Amino acid sequence: GEIGIPTGGSGGGGAKEERILVSVRLRPLNEKEIRNGDLSDWDCTNDTTIVFRNNLQERFLFPPIAYTFDRVFSCDSSTRSVYEESAKEIALSAVNGINSSIFAYGQTSSGKTYTMSGITEYSIADIYDYIQKHDERSFVLKFSAMEIYNEAVRDLLSLDPTPLRLLDDPERGTIVEKLTEETPRDWNHLKQLLSVCEAQRQIGETSLNESSSRSHQILRLTIESSPRHFLGKNSSSTIYATVLNFFDQNFVDLAGSERASQAMSAGTRLKEGCHINRSLLTLGTVIRKLSKGRNGHVPYRDSKLTRILQNSLGTNARTAIICTVSPARSYIEQSRNTLLFASCAK
Ligand code: ADP
Ligand code: MG
Repeated sequence: GEIGIPTGGSGGGGAKEERILVSVRLRPLNEKEIRNGDLSDWDCTNDTTIVFRNNLQERFLFPPIAYTFDRVFSCDSSTRSVYEESAKEIALSAVNGINSSIFAYGQTSSGKTYTMSGITEYSIADIYDYIQKHDERSFVLKFSAMEIYNEAVRDLLSLDPTPLRLLDDPERGTIVEKLTEETPRDWNHLKQLLSVCEAQRQIGETSLNESSSRSHQILRLTIESSPRHFLGKNSSSTIYATVLNFFDQNFVDLAGSERASQAMSAGTRLKEGCHINRSLLTLGTVIRKLSKGRNGHVPYRDSKLTRILQNSLGTNARTAIICTVSPARSYIEQSRNTLLFASCAK
């Protein structure tokens, strides 16, 4: 029994129309952690509750606590079930005319990329499926991909490493100048493009020293659709008016969240650390403001990440955040920071 365990976090079992859907995924202990005798202090007691059990002497430092979110996934959950229950609805927003973003947030090695790459694939498959079943409208898919490292934006579909500029477009909001936009022929072509991005990101990783823990990756599907309005018939043909709409679906693999806490604790960080934190910290502030539902100023313009995602993160958009957590006792502090972030997002 969990008698006497206070509840952290808030909300939970959220209504479907809530703007920010927050879930938590616990990964299994890996081989190295098991070999080192690391132990898991976390348990998912039901679909919405994750409990920290501390059976050690330092109980006074880290007292037991239960956190509640929209959805919690235990260490033996599949990425398929994480997708179905925490992201699928949002992944189909763009085909239904709503901008949206799905984020993976968590410390390095907690499973962000593992979770996000699966979710991206399942989403794209479902989007293609949806398009096939809705031939009353015509759809065009565009794909683009970028990485934000050190507040510099790099095109993941181009070999040119020159940072891209952000421009303000009166109609479309912030746009990334010269960003490659591909129109994939089919699912297989899109899969190829995804592997190009992955390779590009790994090249960055070796030359920039662990870049994936320091950089944010945004994969973006822009879905253009034209509902056909019947205008009438003349003797030879049927006349339609077409209205073109486009909506973005973003898949965001964030920099390791340990970067945020490091910058807050140490005043003397390298430029790199500060910049990474600018995007991560600004995202945190933006999400907190949005989840409070206040009408006040939301500081989208304070970082590249939030500027790029502004239209897909807010009042008229849908957002899912999947927080990944390592179960290992040695990561206890980072895991608690992640759950704190997740609690604030609700
Ligand atoms: P991050 O992107 O947060 O740094 P990764 O996604 O690269 O972390 O995961 C770190 C390692 O753990 C990888 O080898 C990955 O395959 C493994 N891993 C992560 N999550 C899971 C999971 N839920 N089940 C099994 N292995 C996982
Ligand atoms: Mg990663």
